[in-house]
Amino acid sequence: MSDDIQVQSTSKTPALIAREVARRRTFGIISHPDAGKTTLTEKLLLFSGAIQMAGTVKARKSGRHATSDWMEIEKQRGISVASSVMQFEFRDHIINLLDTPGHQDFSEDTYRVLTAVDSGLMVIDAAKGVEAQTIKLLDVCRMRHTPIVTFMNKLDRECRDPLELLDEVESVLKIQCAPVTWPIGMGKNFRGVYHLINDEILLFRAGEESLQGFEVIKGIDNPRLQEMFPMEMDQLRMEVELVHGASHPFSLEDFLAGKQTPVFFGSAINNFGVREILSALVDWAPAPESRDATVRTVQPTEEKFSGFVFKIQANMDPAHRDRIAFLRVCSGRFERGMKVKHLRLNREVKVSSVVTFMASSREQVEEAYAGDIIGLPNHGNMQIGDSFSEGEMLQFTGIPYFAPDFFRQVRIRNPLKIKQLQKGLQQLGEEGAVQVFKPVQGGEVVLGAVGVLQFEVVASRLLNEYGVDAVFEGTSISTARWVSSDDKKALADFEAALGHNVAYDAAGNLAYLATSGVNLRLTQERWPKLTFHATREHA
Ligand code: GDP
Repeated sequence: MSDDIQVQSTSKTPALIAREVARRRTFGIISHPDAGKTTLTEKLLLFSGAIQMAGTVKARKSGRHATSDWMEIEKQRGISVASSVMQFEFRDHIINLLDTPGHQDFSEDTYRVLTAVDSGLMVIDAAKGVEAQTIKLLDVCRMRHTPIVTFMNKLDRECRDPLELLDEVESVLKIQCAPVTWPIGMGKNFRGVYHLINDEILLFRAGEESLQGFEVIKGIDNPRLQEMFPMEMDQLRMEVELVHGASHPFSLEDFLAGKQTPVFFGSAINNFGVREILSALVDWAPAPESRDATVRTVQPTEEKFSGFVFKIQANMDPAHRDRIAFLRVCSGRFERGMKVKHLRLNREVKVSSVVTFMASSREQVEEAYAGDIIGLPNHGNMQIGDSFSEGEMLQFTGIPYFAPDFFRQVRIRNPLKIKQLQKGLQQLGEEGAVQVFKPVQGGEVVLGAVGVLQFEVVASRLLNEYGVDAVFEGTSISTARWVSSDDKKALADFEAALGHNVAYDAAGNLAYLATSGVNLRLTQERWPKLTFHATREHA
């Protein structure tokens, strides 16, 4: 009898896990500031019904009210939890949407968030084309061959020529474009988009916010279209011929390999083209995939739970002054109250208080599967890159630290606070809020960041959390590289010779702090036995 039960439970679980994994999509939304990422996110949530669930009756009637409800939720929750991780349902799929910080200033957070996604949604302002931050973000996606869906936004405005936009994406971002929808006019004359695969036209109406969808007319040769838009249709047919001839047809295989991006045109603010994006993510984007760990590759459908921390956010909820570690589940089934092993500390923790990020609220998690993001309360004992499992010693790899572009030295106004400063910097360094370098010889600690905003965050956290009033000053350092070598003697000689510019980071890795690009190049030439790395992985 008991054998029966045993058999039942073990035979059911793998099927359940496989089903749950298959219906998950975890993607990051990337863009240059002002391209329309926030607007699009809001509309994605609107389509999923998440905002209606959270909102009022009014929200059901009018998108406008739902929008403001959503903003209110965000405000109430302090530092936008809503915009960092959101989970919602669409067509029986569970979608995890991860925001990348939209500030001009780039932070390391942005990069690491992209290690926790399986695909990306790139939003481009069609009037501006490919912009600086998009280039940086795509570089990161390319490192992991992340499949990217592209949304050309703001077609309700005068934009650049669509073919030219595709050309720019291909040449600047080095990814093939496969247009899936094609715009009919733009700005005041924006009529809609032609779906190249389905051979149907989606008619645009400005100010449309209903969820009923837009009118669809089948077939590019439909006489109704000719009647409605005699001028535009001739132009469209010409363009479509050109597009078919000049661009790549959509290939699922190339998309999944990160070589090709399906491109959609639309207008986020008008909700136009948004449903098509969601469908593309559900139909084409990959479900959670296997992840590399130090000892082996972990499959998402394995029965045992595992995951890694990719982000730590402090004070998300000002009322609670809590710190949350964001963990991406990589395999198995997470259940509230289960015991998991924190591998770096080799310690079992019972996880009873975990949050998930339903778009409507921050809720207690009962269960989670690969691809889901769960929030673990963190009392300063978790670091970015930490892995958790049900006991097996596996450290997930590929969670990068990037060589900083900006450097500061810290001075404190009250020398008696030196201990607090050291403790604060150690913890903030471990968290990944900033990189902390201790020179081998003399000298004060050097802080490094990928975006200058990080220094402001660190200054305010030092003050609020550690009671340290710190001043940040410029330094002569302009770039850094981690250094490694099989030749122990060469490393020791290097440390001894250049001690003032050789430093250890918070995780104990050796780095060279260069005063200029030229200085770095000369040093590399002079020390041929050493390797200089622009990124390093979690130790
Ligand atoms: P983010 O910085 O990428 O999050 O961009 P936002 O979503 O905040 O949008 C930046 C600006 O562009 C805002 O003023 C939006 O109202 C506007 N915007 C967003 N989508 C559209 C669109 O489809 N058409 C037009 N005309 N404006 C848009």
